[in-house]
Amino acid sequence: MTILRKEKFDLPEGIIYLDGNSLGAMPKGAVERARDVIASEWGVSLIRAWNSSDWMALPVKVGDRIGGLLGAPKGSVMTGDTLSIKVYQALAAALRMRPSRRVILTDSGNFPSDMYMAQGLIRTLDRDYELRVVDPEDVEAAITDDVAAVMLTQVDYRTGRIHDIPSLTAAAQARDCVMIWDLAHSAGALPVDLTASNAEFAVGCTYKYLNGGPGSPAFAYVRPDLITEIEPALAGWMGHDAPFAMEPDYRPAMSIERLRVGTPPIVQLAILDSALDVWEGVDMHALREASLRLSGLFIEEVERRCPQLRLASPRDGALRGSQVSFAFEHGYATVQALIDRGVIGDFRAPDIMRFGFTPLYLDEADIIQAAENLEAVITQQLWQNAKYQTRSRVT
Ligand SMILES: *Cc1c(COP(=O)(O)O)cnc(C)c1O
Repeated sequence: MTILRKEKFDLPEGIIYLDGNSLGAMPKGAVERARDVIASEWGVSLIRAWNSSDWMALPVKVGDRIGGLLGAPKGSVMTGDTLSIKVYQALAAALRMRPSRRVILTDSGNFPSDMYMAQGLIRTLDRDYELRVVDPEDVEAAITDDVAAVMLTQVDYRTGRIHDIPSLTAAAQARDCVMIWDLAHSAGALPVDLTASNAEFAVGCTYKYLNGGPGSPAFAYVRPDLITEIEPALAGWMGHDAPFAMEPDYRPAMSIERLRVGTPPIVQLAILDSALDVWEGVDMHALREASLRLSGLFIEEVERRCPQLRLASPRDGALRGSQVSFAFEHGYATVQALIDRGVIGDFRAPDIMRFGFTPLYLDEADIIQAAENLEAVITQQLWQNAKYQTRSRVT
């Protein structure tokens, strides 16, 4: 049985899209759903739509659907804001849970925004907190009794290297540390079982593998037994127990809704909701198998055709997420030349060319064709063209 459902996506003719790990492709239902929310719900119902179209419940409803892909029970996942905000919320709540400890442990492969949010939180708290950064392979050994929270991104955005959620969570909890997983490059890419992991928090974004569209809201999971215990650092009115009672003092909702902050982005949430329709019936283990088949084939084809490139991802599929990276001195220009030929990947400084594998809309023929194009760019040195040398704001 194939996992492929290309017909559910609106991909431009002649494009091989290997960047679904950064911004997922557009599901066909997105346009209709957006038009419906804008024209019929907003346009006709106006403010009544908060009730008549149940906009108010959409953040939780969509959270439950994401939870279904991550082994999280209903009522344990909230959507809203951006991933950076969700990292801040989870981290702030985790530190409150271990008031006598002062260390946040993370690894050097973590995404800059996660680090920046931790640094900003530490400055705000102004109480001698420390962000301790170690190499990814040294995390387990660095889990010590002074660590309040272990904050890790499962899949390294540059290399695709995977952390093992069950063993690292167990190691953190053995030292009574709070575990926070960032699933930005895991949700919609790998089988994840949050319940089995016992992790206290997980966060992630929805515009990558989940195809929610640019700026679609992030998600945050809280282990069910902690939901009514955690103290929200961003105490917005939507997370209040009774937002429309307009009480002067904050009283958090007795549910996952306490992670809400302000008014949800309804149009974007509705698009994400329609994107999740595509995931109905997708077996995450079958998806993972297809992803490894595609990324393994890509590695094989590229290494054979372009020996100049150095594989920057784990060769062992079990240690690799749904992306493959190659390091190349002229990586930026090479990716631009590839894009000109209809193969879209991206570039991360200093020299990483990234290619994402999304088995819902990519097949083996796409992979071969992408490798052929990369070979042409490298062997004919097409990257040398002056127009590929200037870096855009987004790489
Ligand atoms: C993509 C990504 C982000 C982006 O955060 P936003 O607030 O959504 O811009 C943060 N952290 C990780 C690990 C990511 O991969």
